[in-house]
This record gives sequence, C-alpha cells and structure tokens, in this order.
Amino acid sequence: MGRIVQLDRNMVNLIAAGEVIERPASVVKELVENSIDAGATKITVSVEDGGRKLISIVDDGSGMDAEDLANAFESHATSKVKQVEDLHKISTLGFRGEALASIASVARVRAVSRTRESDQAHCLEIDCGDKGPVSPCSGDVGTTIQVRDLFYKTPARRKFLRTANTEIGHISEQFARIALPQVHLDLTLTHNSRELYRLPKTDSLKERVMQLFPMLISQPSDLIETQSDEKSIRIRALLGRPSVSRTSNQFQYTFLNGRFIRDKFISHAIKEAYRGLLEANRFPVVFLFIAMPFDDYDVNVHPTKIEVRFYNANLVHSQVLGVLREQLLGTDLNLPAQLPTEVHAGAGDETANQKVRRQQIADAMAEFFQKHRPAQQRQFDLRPESRGERREPDPKRTTAEKPPPISALPLPENRYIQIHDSYIVEQTEDGFVIIDQHALHERMLYETLQRRLRRESLESQRLLLPESFEVTDAQAGAIEGHADLLAQLGIELTPFGPRMYAVQTFPTLLASVPPVEFVQDLIDMLVERGDDVAKQDLFNDILSMAACKAAIKAGQRLTNSEIEELLAERKRFESTSRCPHGRPTTIRFSLSELEKQFKRT
Ligand code: ADP
Ligand code: MG
Repeated sequence: MGRIVQLDRNMVNLIAAGEVIERPASVVKELVENSIDAGATKITVSVEDGGRKLISIVDDGSGMDAEDLANAFESHATSKVKQVEDLHKISTLGFRGEALASIASVARVRAVSRTRESDQAHCLEIDCGDKGPVSPCSGDVGTTIQVRDLFYKTPARRKFLRTANTEIGHISEQFARIALPQVHLDLTLTHNSRELYRLPKTDSLKERVMQLFPMLISQPSDLIETQSDEKSIRIRALLGRPSVSRTSNQFQYTFLNGRFIRDKFISHAIKEAYRGLLEANRFPVVFLFIAMPFDDYDVNVHPTKIEVRFYNANLVHSQVLGVLREQLLGTDLNLPAQLPTEVHAGAGDETANQKVRRQQIADAMAEFFQKHRPAQQRQFDLRPESRGERREPDPKRTTAEKPPPISALPLPENRYIQIHDSYIVEQTEDGFVIIDQHALHERMLYETLQRRLRRESLESQRLLLPESFEVTDAQAGAIEGHADLLAQLGIELTPFGPRMYAVQTFPTLLASVPPVEFVQDLIDMLVERGDDVAKQDLFNDILSMAACKAAIKAGQRLTNSEIEELLAERKRFESTSRCPHGRPTTIRFSLSELEKQFKRT
C-alpha cells in the first residue's frame, strides 16, 4: 500500500533529460532549434571546455516577455502546439515542450530575453530545477541562454562525458546538421574563444556544404546538383562524385523540411542510386533535402525527433531513388586523368585514395607509352649514331622489322587501338581516352539488363538440346522457391529425372555464357542468400553476375568491327562510367594536360 507515488516536477524533468539531453551536443541542438523556431536570423554558439563549463546561445529572434520567460522552463510548456490536430502538422523544429525544462533540471541556466515590442529585457536563473524570480535587466532583442556546469549534480551522467575534444566533435556535428539546411542564417560556433565556424548567410546549399566540409569537398564540381518536384515531394540533392566517396555513411545527410533525420528507406534509396558506381565498402557523400506536406509524416515517434514515420515510405523511397539514379546515370563520371607532376609528387596533404588513383593513372600512361615507343622507333630512328648516315634500304632488315599487320595499327580513320588485348585507346576531340574493355562492356550489359527488366521479363531463347545438371535438395528447393525470379530472367528449368534439372530456355542477352554454368552459379547464389534478402538487392546481384560473365574479357583480342561496335555502344552509355563492381571504365587524357607534361606550354 502506498508504494506508488506521483513523481514531483523536478523528477519528471530529470527523467525527460535522460532521454533528451545526452551530452553537451544535445543542449546545443535543442537551444539552436529554439532560436530558429523563434525566427532568429543570427545565432552565435559559444562553448567552453567541450560544453562542460559553458554553452551559450545568443539569438536575435522574437524573444520572450516576462510571463513567457517564466513559463518556458516548465515541463511540457510550449508555444508550438495547442491541440491534438496541431500534432499532425508540425512545422517547427520543437514541439514537445521538454527541452528547456530538461536542461534546467541538470545545469545552472541563465536566460535573458527581450521581445521586439519591449524596451526592457528580463532574466531568469535556474539551478538544477531550482528556479529564481524573473527580473528586469538590460539586453538586446532576442534571447541569450547560458548553460553552465552541465550534470554537476548528477555525477553518474557527468562521468559519461568524454574529453573536450570528443564533446566538441559531437557539438560540431549537431551544429552542421542544423546549419546545412538553414542557409539563410548567420551562424557562428566558437570553442574556448576560438572560432570553429563562421557561416555567413547564403542562397546556395552547395556553398553551405563547402563552408562546413572543406576537407571533404574541395571544389564545387565534387558535388552534382539535382532536384525534382513530383507527387508533392520536393527533393534537392547534392551528390558527391564517386571520387569523394568515404569508408562509412557518415557523410550522408538527409533533411526533411529542415530537420536532420535518419531513415532506413532513404538510406537504402541512396545506396541503390549509387549501385555500380562505387567500389564495395565505399559510401557516397550525399546531402539530401526533402520538403513535403507536414501531414504526410509523423515526427512524434522519437524523443530527439531524429526518426520520423512516413505515411507512404515506398513513395519516398522511389522518388529519391528515381531522381538520384537518373542524375547519376546522366552525368559524366569519368575520371579526368591527372598526370603526375613534380608538384603533385611533393604534395603532402593528398589522401591515400588520391595517391592510389594517381598511381593507377600514371601506370596506365606508362603502359601506353611503353607499348607505343618501339613502333615509333621503327619508323623514325633518332639514335645519335645513326643520324646523318644515309641508310641503304636493307632488304633483310626491312623484312625482320616489318611493321605488324596493318589491322593492329591505328588506321588514320579508326582513331583507336587495342593494347594488351585489354584496353582500347581512342582519340577524342581534345585528347584521348583509355577504356577498360571488360569494365565498359560489363557496365553496358548491366544497364541494359536493368532497363529491360524494369519493363518486362528478359527475352529468352529455347535451347535446341536442353542441358541437364545435377542438384542437391537445397538447390532443388531454391529452384522451386524462386520460380518467379527465374521466369523473369527468362530461364526455364524443368525436372529431368531424380535430382536432375534441365535448362530449357536462356536469356538472349547472355548468349555468350554457357547456360549450365550460369544457372548453377545462380542457384548457388539463391541458396546462399536464403529468403531474407531484399528482392531488389538479390536481383541486382544476379544482374551484376550476369553482366560480368557475359562481358568481353580482359585479354580477349577484338577485331576492328568489334571495337567499333563497342565504341558506338559506348556513345549511348556515355553517361555511365563505372562497371557494376564500381571500377572506373574510362580514363580521360586531355591534350592540354599532355602539352603541359611535355612542357609545350
Ligand atoms: P519546444 O521547443 O518543444 O516548444 P522548449 O522547452 O524547447 O520546447 O521551449 C519552450 C518554449 O519556450 C518554446 O515553445 C518557445 O515558446 C520558448 N522559447 C524557447 N527558446 C526560445 C528562444 N530562443 N526565443 C524565443 N522563445 C523561446
Ligand atoms: Mg525546443
């Protein structure tokens, strides 16, 4: 009896603080969001000792009068929602009325505020929930909130704070999440009086990204811009080129109506959009700004509102995937070749990734010129000892050094050549390109397969003689279980005696692949992946495998007409520049780079 009691106000706030205020960065987030909701145009955040000692936020927003200031720190006190219906159309960043009360329950807080209508500011001090009186004081229009000694009365929480460096790292991250979409605000962040960010207002999202991530995005062309406005979802995106990809998805920022969110549907859409454009284990840098009606989703599902519930998540997924994928496939993502120069060799601050890339290009160049030098020497002998000698035609010598058959040399009208049976070098208007024949062909097959399958099942051919093969029970199960998928791929398998199946039909596009070999690999993949994988992922993996198997191989000598066909096809696929495994297909060399390299300029 009497064991259950109603908790007092301060206890309620302390418990709420446990959810909302995890560390100094949470305080920064909540207070800056309040300033934005108050219509501020300029917000200054100053932090000392990683936020442990002081977090101060100064804004020039609407301010509060004496009465509102007194109420603002009460639990569940908010000016942003009043009735149930308001919850369905929240346009402000805050609405739960918990932040100020929570913060004031775990720190020493001083608030000074003045409305535009008043010529007098008011201030209020609260020490871990212990609230003083509101009294007049001097101050500008707007609100200043100072939070000192966070968690000083809750040692268990304080103990969890990390070094000042770590905490300021979290604060910077929160600051970036707020600052990214709010381009029209002047924002400053200082730590121990050192200015970390000063972000003047701008009209350009790209500029804001570059202000915040100079180490990540070094030039505007690193980001591809795109947008769409369809089915009441407005999307603006800045898509990092594959060359600025990362080893984690840390640099994928999604905003919904100005609020940073994490959403698994959107993450999946981003991953799919970049499928085939990045190597495995690389993640794209993406800034995605989505605007949609407030009543098409619910923000009231997470204490810090980092997650939302979309009423039509599939629509959001398909819109995001559509606009991103289309833009990426429509953009020339070919690597511009950067020739190695002394300056580059000495540059200390290039990333390991850039170094590898530069080395690869240098190797490709070296290989190309090595291959070509002997051919030229045969025609123009410039060795000093031979100079001046009028050489008599030597019949023996000319036969011995007879140039290779004309078909292997670049004909004047065919401005290409195959080297090492693996690469095609093609002259272009302003230089030349080196194409990885396998990667390019694979890429083109992959896209063709994707496109066909998006519309219908693959066209197939009936084998003259069905080809049979043995299966295990698990494999037979996988065949039965994936009948639809096989049908879509244009593969018909029929039982052919005990533990035997026969391939009856096979996709025309994969005509160059031995049917049984392909089908067996496919079945292995189905068995290995089980039922739990997303259908689209499985499909894409199958298509990658198919494209890889059916594509021209490295080391395969091509006839001129095959090369011409490949190059003509390439024109149609110009936009797509990486094979499904994410390797580049084409490296460009410009004449101007060559001229610089040969010191002609
Ligand atoms: P919420 O933001 O969810 O409404 P808070 O506890 O963060 O809850 O803030 C409570 C109320 O205090 C807000 O609804 C707002 O009216 C007022 N307020 C807070 N910060 C400011 C500010 N910087 N400028 C003006 N009013 C503010
Ligand atoms: Mg708030």
